[in-house]
Amino acid sequence: MKWSETYIPTLREFPAEAEIISHKLLIKAGYIRKLTSGVYNYLPLMQSVLLKITNIVREEMNKSGAQEILMPVLHPAELWQKSGRWETVGKELMRMRDRHQRDLVLGGTHEEVVTNLIKGEIRSYRQLPVNLYQIQTKFRDEIRPRFGLMRGREFLMKDAYTFDANEKSFNISYQKMVDAYFKIFKRCGLETKMVESDTGAMGGKAAHEFMVIVDTEGGENIIFYCDRCDYSANIDKASSFDLKEIKSEGFTEKETFKKMEKVHTPDKKTIEEVTLFLNQPPEKLVKTLIYRADGNLVAALIRGDKEINEVKLKNALGCIQLEMADSESIKKLTKAEVGFSGPVGLKGVKMIVDEQIPNLFNFVTGANQNDYHLVNVNSERDFKIDQVADIKTAKEGEGCPKCKKGRLKTDRGIEVGNTFMLGTKYSQSLGATFIDKDGKEKPFIMGSYGVGITRTAQAAVEKYHDEKGIIWPVSIAPLHINILPVNIQDQTQKNVAFDIYQRMKENKMEVLIDDRDERAGVKFNDSDLIGLPLRITVGEKYLKKKKVELTLRGKNETLFCPKEEVLEKSKKILEKLKAVF
Ligand code: ATP
Ligand code: MG
Repeated sequence: MKWSETYIPTLREFPAEAEIISHKLLIKAGYIRKLTSGVYNYLPLMQSVLLKITNIVREEMNKSGAQEILMPVLHPAELWQKSGRWETVGKELMRMRDRHQRDLVLGGTHEEVVTNLIKGEIRSYRQLPVNLYQIQTKFRDEIRPRFGLMRGREFLMKDAYTFDANEKSFNISYQKMVDAYFKIFKRCGLETKMVESDTGAMGGKAAHEFMVIVDTEGGENIIFYCDRCDYSANIDKASSFDLKEIKSEGFTEKETFKKMEKVHTPDKKTIEEVTLFLNQPPEKLVKTLIYRADGNLVAALIRGDKEINEVKLKNALGCIQLEMADSESIKKLTKAEVGFSGPVGLKGVKMIVDEQIPNLFNFVTGANQNDYHLVNVNSERDFKIDQVADIKTAKEGEGCPKCKKGRLKTDRGIEVGNTFMLGTKYSQSLGATFIDKDGKEKPFIMGSYGVGITRTAQAAVEKYHDEKGIIWPVSIAPLHINILPVNIQDQTQKNVAFDIYQRMKENKMEVLIDDRDERAGVKFNDSDLIGLPLRITVGEKYLKKKKVELTLRGKNETLFCPKEEVLEKSKKILEKLKAVF
């Protein structure tokens, strides 16, 4: 490809609209352009990266025995109503109406459609297992589209669906996908960590996410892992136990109930203010947070030193919509300002408490009266608990729930893939059954498996870049080599550069030549910015010593060689780079 004939609109400055480095670089380097919030054009270099990733995904999926299909983007609403997700996915579901006022959905995932597809067609256990996948544009009306391709409203995804007759066979199908995912990401140059995750609106029994670990802001997910065993989970799933519960007396052993008293705490609303004022540790305070869950008020209680995890709370309550109650509703319910809510005497709400609360004695809560708190509150004696659940966010340094010996550590990750054990949620709700060996009709056991193609591309940039630009892993680089004649007006430089370019093209190498009549500085900067793995410079060195320069992007080493050897040398370097992945 000649640069002069390719649409690579690099910019001199970082775009103001972008927050994280990978988003900034993809715009600055001329890979993507925004159309509207969460919707992007993929320019030639980006499209090339996406095709590379797609090919890797396709190869590994086919190797695993999955079959490629292509399902419609436009779905009738009835399918989503049958599965229940017309409601549960809520506003993220991209909806539209046709001219007959019929509701339609623009697909963000295809469990309903694929289940409907095989329903009535696959009839016997003999036809199982089946794994169907597609690579397609997905639509989701994300509440906060951001970070470029990381969280778009329109994005590319590979989604696969397995159908099995029994658990044993399903476990094999699931493991095949897990193995394929590790291979896919590795071939894209990305090591991934597999972590337990929440099943969310997808439903089903268990799920895992594949995370690329980064130390930049682009790592949207906090993941927890144990420093001693193999436990790892994302923030919405990770549980922990508190070492304080074991160490400090009175947190696990039953204390005698002391007399509950109301104390005057003027203007002391926050945990810090109350702890200081009452001279109590924050773990002896209990926060009462009022939520609205599907319209109903709920009081959620958690220790003062912990934070509520709203995904856990939502799952525990089994609700669709969850939000903090507005201050007016709180005032009406508690008869006090926000900050003085407490469980004692609170009527007309469901009381859900974190699992640590029943182990806590003689604690402090709000008194449902302005400027007052209650001390020596005991759940067993003073109020009624409706539900106990783990609703807190784990914290670094807390105990590992699996081995009970290690401590939890955290990393930041980008979720590039996801696998779900769906069980029979969709086959049952959509009535998709088969006849098993024993002659009985049974619902399929299903799994679903997603890879974010566009997100994976950007994750690679978030992981591999420096202050000058992108550093692509060779396997997904849009092209491998950029030939850079420093001064295109110089006939010798131009001829040598084009001679190498021609020979490389004849050898089917992926090569770009920067034939623009631009200043050397601009060409070098752009070369680093777009991040192809190898640069071949034809400049002063050639005129003086008859040698061209080979420079690996992201490395400081430069190799010099005569132009006759450059083809073989480049091939060798690229082979070596490929071998890493
Ligand atoms: P997230 O938790 O990030 O919202 P998800 O759990 O909703 O992701 P899935 O439904 O499992 O994601 O989709 C499969 C894959 O598709 C994800 O692992 C991710 O790589 C990608 N993906 C999901 N949502 C988006 C999006 N809005 N933009 C780009 N890629 C996405
Ligand atoms: Mg999502």
